[in-house]
Amino acid sequence: MNLDLNEEQQLIQQTARAFAAAQLAPVAGPLDQGGDQQPFFDNLLKLAELGFMGLNVRAAYGGTEAGTVAFSVALTEIARACAATAVTLSVSNMVCELIQAIGSADQCRNYIPRICSGDYPAAAFALTEAGAGSDPAAMTTSAVSDGAAWVLNGSKVFITSAPYAGVFVVWAVTDKQAPKGQGISCFLVEGGTPGLAIGKQEKKMGQHAAATNEIVFTDCRIPRSALIGRLNDGFRIAVSELAGGRIGIGSLALGVGLAATECAIRYALERKQFGQKLADFQATQWKIADACTELEAARLLLMNAAFLKEQGRPFARAASMAKLFATESANRACYEALQIHGGYGYTADFPVERYARDVRVTTIYEGTSEIQRLIIARDVLRGFE
Ligand SMILES: Cc1cc2nc3c(=O)[nH]c(=O)nc-3n(C[C@H](O)[C@H](O)[C@H](O)COP(=O)(O)OP(=O)(O)OC[C@H]3O[C@@H](n4cnc5c(N)ncnc54)[C@H](O)[C@@H]3O)c2cc1C
Repeated sequence: MNLDLNEEQQLIQQTARAFAAAQLAPVAGPLDQGGDQQPFFDNLLKLAELGFMGLNVRAAYGGTEAGTVAFSVALTEIARACAATAVTLSVSNMVCELIQAIGSADQCRNYIPRICSGDYPAAAFALTEAGAGSDPAAMTTSAVSDGAAWVLNGSKVFITSAPYAGVFVVWAVTDKQAPKGQGISCFLVEGGTPGLAIGKQEKKMGQHAAATNEIVFTDCRIPRSALIGRLNDGFRIAVSELAGGRIGIGSLALGVGLAATECAIRYALERKQFGQKLADFQATQWKIADACTELEAARLLLMNAAFLKEQGRPFARAASMAKLFATESANRACYEALQIHGGYGYTADFPVERYARDVRVTTIYEGTSEIQRLIIARDVLRGFE
């Protein structure tokens, strides 16, 4: 058993780390504060040029073919500097992989290279609706065939990258009579298609540079060829693709947790109270030890899930365990890192307050912690039936 990264994975990790330090870290704070958004887009393009938009995508479509372990370590490095960039990257990679997994040759040729090359700034994954979050099978957005085209009506909420996504993967009900979850299909909708409107942008607690919007379909006509995967197989597709995405979100959370812990360690080594460094208090040492131990366990769970996926083995339970543990641990790490900074941690003078805000959503999107526990428990219990 070898837990080391191979040479290619190390190279990708180092490239991501260097890019994050040089390009992302200097702009992450100003972007969070609502400054000029152009650097965010410039960096997405540079990341595409470095091959980070299609890390697990075939070279024939412009991808890097680096695998899921490389994807995980790259996202962690990017998130150490800027979680908003990391989530954008994670979703774009997820869309590329979805198209590669179930798309026709034409769909793969049409869309994946545009995402990988940065021709599209990002891609979007449009599943959630106002009344269908943890329970996406309750969606009501519909797609009706009029013979020549599919006509979409309805709306989606919380869609990452919606204002600048070149392509959206959209789930819609295609058979209203079918049992719950069995009449949903998946479509590729290009940004700017008439009838697709970008709605309200959410004012969020963190990850400010990454837009999160409602999208509204009003008699939005898309070609028959926009159906991706089999008709009425959309729910299964969503469940299977979200499992891969969870490795991305867990890796992102790990990066933010590591960044916060590193800040806390540096601060504890400098700040003195009662005539000694905070780092000399055993209470501080225990916080640091717990955070480092939990984040290391999270990393190993993520590596395990990524390895299983890369091997083509079942990985859904491992991905849920990794996402659950990594996001919860990263939240605890950020909370304690802020505590170690005392009052200064609560101010914008230190990045730790941004980390604490950015990390919070990771236990919510791509399946809440409660839903991860539900997935894990169901899978464990099945093994005993
Ligand atoms: C910043 C951000 C970006 C997002 N990006 C996207 C995106 O790009 N694409 C997309 O499709 N969606 C996206 N989402 C949506 C996200 O995936 C959902 O918010 C999430 O799945 C939870 O759904 P909900 O918000 O409707 O909460 P609800 O489903 O209403 O859940 C509320 C609470 O009830 C709990 N709960 C629900 N059901 C159960 C149950 N069976 N057992 C126990 N507890 C339960 C939940 O865990 C949660 O604590 C994003 C959300 C945010 C905040």
